[in-house]
Amino acid sequence: MLIGALEAGGTKMVCSIGTPQGGVLQRASFPTLAPEVTVPQIVEFISKFDVGALGIGSFGPLDLNPASPTYGCITNTPKTEWQNYPLLPELRERLGVPAAIDTDVNAAALAEFKMGAGAGLQSLLYVTVGTGIGGGLVIGGQLVHGLVHPELGHMILSPEEADPMPDGVCPFHRHCLEGLACGPAIEKRWGLSAKLMTEDHPAWDLEATYLAQMCANAIVTVSPEVIVLGGGVMQQAHLFPRIREKTLALLGGYVASDRLTPEGIASYIVPPALGINSGVTGALLLGAQALEAKEA
Ligand code: ADP
Ligand code: ZN
Repeated sequence: MLIGALEAGGTKMVCSIGTPQGGVLQRASFPTLAPEVTVPQIVEFISKFDVGALGIGSFGPLDLNPASPTYGCITNTPKTEWQNYPLLPELRERLGVPAAIDTDVNAAALAEFKMGAGAGLQSLLYVTVGTGIGGGLVIGGQLVHGLVHPELGHMILSPEEADPMPDGVCPFHRHCLEGLACGPAIEKRWGLSAKLMTEDHPAWDLEATYLAQMCANAIVTVSPEVIVLGGGVMQQAHLFPRIREKTLALLGGYVASDRLTPEGIASYIVPPALGINSGVTGALLLGAQALEAKEA
């Protein structure tokens, strides 16, 4: 049985055809234009294959309350053409197969939990640091949705005194994580492409400080058994040892765990085991879950 997967992003829609176990067989990508243009392209590509279900990992915010009449719709995104767009209902109807949706980061968290850095554990936090910052959370083996869904990227942090841009770039909040530490924030603060900055640029120490504040806050709030940091900015692999060290310093030895020691933290704050495939794998797993739910 084949599964369709959609990674719905603000700049592109990546459609994949794969197996219920998360293996990818075919892939196509379309720019995210208006829904009237882009959705037919998605449907045309996926319809070429005999898929039994569809899994969607989407940008948000999304309505993920199964009891809501607008379940599976995008809600108040700054992308006005997609505001209130019924992504799940529309694709389910047009493709005529069972479908499931979650946030892009929850999909990636699910994949890392089942098949990557979280294998054998009961909880995992996945955070992507890219154009924006988002977090997906698994606790007790289940993705956390809660009131709406976690918006970890908008956690309010303590700005550093030495930060030349201590308010950040988020239009909603002063000094939230995304506003201070997303790729565009780094580039605005220093007037330089993040990809071109050398390892000794002061941008990286500041970046590690903010990501360590997030890790420490997450550890004392939800106590995940592993923290996975992915996304374009985390291509800077030298950030990992700095974030680990600063996280331990912020915790001050208070939380007792062999993971939270200078030796243990190397396998606690880690890059995605599935690399850049966490998102697509997660969408395929969501599709497989939709199929199972139908057959149950
Ligand atoms: P998106 O968040 O749009 O899905 P990415 O996760 O690739 O995509 O994030 C893009 C952001 O990551 C950009 O702001 C870019 O500056 C930054 N970025 C991408 N690659 C690198 C890199 N090698 N080093 C530092 N920053 C990077
Ligand atoms: Zn914010």
